[in-house]
Amino acid sequence: MGSTIVLATANPGKVKELSEPLGALGYQIVTQSQWEIQPIAETGQTFIENALLKARHCAQQSGLPALADDSGLVVEALQGAPGIYSARYAGEHASEADNRHKLLEQLQQVPAAQRTAHFYCVIVYLRYADDPAPLISQAHWQGAIALHPSGDQGFGYDSLFYLPDRHCTAAALSREQKFQHSHRGQALRQLLTVLPHA
Ligand code: IMP
Repeated sequence: MGSTIVLATANPGKVKELSEPLGALGYQIVTQSQWEIQPIAETGQTFIENALLKARHCAQQSGLPALADDSGLVVEALQGAPGIYSARYAGEHASEADNRHKLLEQLQQVPAAQRTAHFYCVIVYLRYADDPAPLISQAHWQGAIALHPSGDQGFGYDSLFYLPDRHCTAAALSREQKFQHSHRGQALRQLLTVLPHA
């Protein structure tokens, strides 16, 4: 049996994207919901602080190694917003549709050429809760914010994240295609080069 890792996320979109490739390499993945671990408040001011908070919390609660991703959308014309607030852009209990709606509203006056944006992802792996030397990887994925949503795959802001070189949004890609190019796919592949073998 491979090594067991707790995935420190309750986001079903991320669970799908991360557990499949890790599972294929022989890691046994359990999610924080399967362990009935309550999510911790993301009180950090940066992606890396929040990723460490989430992974440490899950490692503490489970006694197992934990992997957390913290990610978000960074829009240059909005001075980096929604950034670390991507999941709660339109309010603490906002739906993904509410967040997309707010983003389009905020960009209403912004012309196409200035709607550049990137997804950013940091992934951390803690061997145990007080691991002083976490494994860390980070990556970004460049695109632009479309005028209207399109595509029916993915989650979050995917249907607004336009990829100029592919002439479609991230929501038009299959999970495998998205993972090949995305911030999360790149960050995970980097992490796998240093992760202990399953
Ligand atoms: P986190 O769970 O605090 O890391 O929040 C990440 C939020 O950023 C998600 O809820 C989405 O709104 C957004 N996000 C991150 N990665 C993606 C992605 O691959 N596609 C679409 N939205 C994403």
